[in-house]
Amino acid sequence: MRIAVFPGSFDPITLGHFDIVERAVPLFDKIIIAIGQNSQKNYMFSLEQRKEFIRNTFKDFPNVEVDNFEGLTIDYCRSKNVNFILRGLRNPADFEFEKAIAQTNRTLTQDNKIETIFLLTSSGKSFISSSIVREIITFKGDYELLVPQAVRV
Ligand code: ADP
Repeated sequence: MRIAVFPGSFDPITLGHFDIVERAVPLFDKIIIAIGQNSQKNYMFSLEQRKEFIRNTFKDFPNVEVDNFEGLTIDYCRSKNVNFILRGLRNPADFEFEKAIAQTNRTLTQDNKIETIFLLTSSGKSFISSSIVREIITFKGDYELLVPQAVRV
């Protein structure tokens, strides 16, 4: 089975994330959207809320699952026997950052290479980020334009 893990904070999931997953669906047998929990980080939405937003967003996608993990993404992939990591690229800053992580992950998985597969953001979605959405929510703006319907606060 060709399974990909799409790791991230998803605080909350945005139309940018949705676009990447929707376009990756035909490429894999299964996609696990994996929420990385970092105890040092403060989130706007609880883990359960973030999972619920994702579950509802993909309720009509039988091959998309949601899960959460702590620690390194590659360790989570190993525990699930997954060989692919899916990431989205919005701009050159994402590229530089993601390149270092992907190359590190390849180095740390000498035995059983885990490949990172990148999809470029669709035009019109590259400006969307969870942090911008949180800012809009905080100041009571129209965040609905940037997130799937399931995200309501
Ligand atoms: P992280 O904290 O790991 O960056 P995010 O939830 O912000 O977690 O992002 C998870 C993944 O989704 C990353 O690969 C990121 O590049 C991608 N992503 C986020 N927003 C967009 C977007 N607007 N278009 C394409 N990819 C995106």
